[in-house]
Amino acid sequence: MAAQVTPLDQLPPLFALRELTYREPTKKKPNLRTALEQRLTTMSPLVRAELPRDLDEQYTVLVRLYRLALTRVEESAGERAAVEAVLELFRDLGFDLAKYQVSEEQFAEFGAAMREALADVAGKEWTEELGRTQTQFYDIIARALAAGASEAEEELGANRFLVGARVVDVQRPTRGLAVVRLLTDVPMDYLPGQYMSVLTPYKHAVWRKLSPSIPANPARQIEFHVRAVEGGTLSPALVAMVAPGDRWVLSTPLGELEIARNPAPARAPGEGAAGKPPQLVRGDHQDVLIIAGGTGIAPVRSLILDISRFGDNPRVHLFYGARYPGELYDLHSLVSMSAHSPWLTVQPVAEEREDPWWLDTSGAEPFPQTLHRFTYGRLDKVVTAYGGWGDRQIILAGPPEMISATKKALIARGAPPENIQHDPLPGT
Ligand SMILES: Cc1cc2nc3c(=O)[nH]c(=O)nc-3n(C[C@H](O)[C@H](O)[C@H](O)COP(=O)(O)OP(=O)(O)OC[C@H]3O[C@@H](n4cnc5c(N)ncnc54)[C@H](O)[C@@H]3O)c2cc1C
Repeated sequence: MAAQVTPLDQLPPLFALRELTYREPTKKKPNLRTALEQRLTTMSPLVRAELPRDLDEQYTVLVRLYRLALTRVEESAGERAAVEAVLELFRDLGFDLAKYQVSEEQFAEFGAAMREALADVAGKEWTEELGRTQTQFYDIIARALAAGASEAEEELGANRFLVGARVVDVQRPTRGLAVVRLLTDVPMDYLPGQYMSVLTPYKHAVWRKLSPSIPANPARQIEFHVRAVEGGTLSPALVAMVAPGDRWVLSTPLGELEIARNPAPARAPGEGAAGKPPQLVRGDHQDVLIIAGGTGIAPVRSLILDISRFGDNPRVHLFYGARYPGELYDLHSLVSMSAHSPWLTVQPVAEEREDPWWLDTSGAEPFPQTLHRFTYGRLDKVVTAYGGWGDRQIILAGPPEMISATKKALIARGAPPENIQHDPLPGT
């Protein structure tokens, strides 16, 4: 049965534009994916040539963001904060796209091709009002993209968008996982907990985000932990093929994960919500809860290594989880860090009690005695069995489903959403 199509004149203009992004192709009209490819090829061959031959990934990200923006702006009813949040997304995208060195003219050419492509999809339903709305809407987006790109230029300098790096060491601590150490050609500045887009030789023109697992350093060393995602475009090839001598390209660091070291208000009896305002006590930090699944441990260990230089830190309770106990490949190193850092507690979590036959852990050292008790179950369930952790700063890192499930469970147990930090999830 053919999908139901809502006539455009029954929708507000922004929703009508969004509707066009969903339309299936018919005998007479293309879908947006095809129309955009054709229009880009004819109207802006240079922009098209700069994009990878297979547009699918870029197209999916772009259209998801575009739909989100149309929805949020229409639903915001002009509320400034909601519109500003949408623009922030596009400024971040512009910051990230700076790696392609896209010019303002190219952003504008892309907008023109998008408008014509939407008109192709709409056919006779296209109106002047829709054209005007699309132009105005895209102009605002293009300005945010350009602002993000020039922010990247100011912050990093035009010659620092892309940094070359050479693989110097590869470890494969468990099946489907590679710890890759590289030396960058020039020192690279990034903050602990940030991520960056990475281009590798294992798939043509495929950029993927990875989080360094050590802080930036003058020796130009950088390390990534990469897990092979089943059926993934890049990660299985990367994990299988990476070898010393390979050249990678690293781009603009992004992201705002941070362990806050500011003193938190200490509450004396009678203070707090109903009583006197709390007093600040020097060195009294807000406790931190970190939940890391799989390679989500990479940015977390960089954050922990970074604060280890201070004598006085917030108490950090880290739940580190994986499906099988033997997949907790970074546990030994975390436990040695905690042995020197009384503020750090590491709690390992595995969904299954036994390792499967294919997970060869025969050469691995036994888990250390000092370790916090192993807990079994899914990370979201294990963590929230202790409560909502509403009094803490909370950092989540790992696969998208783990972040979404854990965040939902924490909020349901009373954690204030504003206390929870994580990297952007695909499609948000
Ligand atoms: C901010 C950020 C930081 C990241 N840091 C790291 C890192 O340090 N190490 C690392 O290994 N990966 C990291 N990733 C994930 C990485 O960027 C890729 O998405 C992942 O390697 C899959 O790429 P792919 O080309 O193999 O799969 P794709 O072809 O892009 O995707 C295949 C499928 O896998 C899903 N998928 C995407 N990411 C994950 C994931 N992490 N776990 C399970 N399924 C996933 C996708 O939704 C899709 O359904 C990070 C992602 C983000 C957004």
